[in-house]
Amino acid sequence: MKVHLRQIPSGSTIHLEGEEDSAPLELEQAGAEPVGPLEYSLDVGLSDGGVFATGNLAQRVRMTCVACLEPFESDIIVDRFATQIELTGNESVDLTPEVREDIHLLLPAHPRCDQGGEKTCPAQFPAGARTAPMQTERAARPAIWEALDQLNTPPSDGSPKT
Ligand SMILES: [Zn+2]
Repeated sequence: MKVHLRQIPSGSTIHLEGEEDSAPLELEQAGAEPVGPLEYSLDVGLSDGGVFATGNLAQRVRMTCVACLEPFESDIIVDRFATQIELTGNESVDLTPEVREDIHLLLPAHPRCDQGGEKTCPAQFPAGARTAPMQTERAARPAIWEALDQLNTPPSDGSPKT
């Protein structure tokens, strides 16, 4: 995503909006497959010795749910993208490394298909699992009774010694 410095009016900003090929984002490295292009809407301006850009980015990706192992699609949205790049004497600056970094930061390390709250992951624990604590309580009772029984057991009187 290159911005030509001549495009930028001095003392003002230029609004750039459009779509870019998502291949340079290298999303596959993070286990996500891009679905469609990267969409961007940026204001770019010149500051002291550098170029700044603010705006938002959106990239649809396909990931695999860690719970049910089903692929699902999700929008990665950077709604407060902001970066500043030092001028190096070139006629243009490339925003791709900064864009890539911000998108990657938002990719979940453990993607779940229900992360957006729109659907329920089929790999949810069954409702019956909630009764587990009660069962544990019940299972613990015999041990308590056993301990009480031992306390109440009178000392052995006359039982045959071996
Ligand atoms: Zn799932």
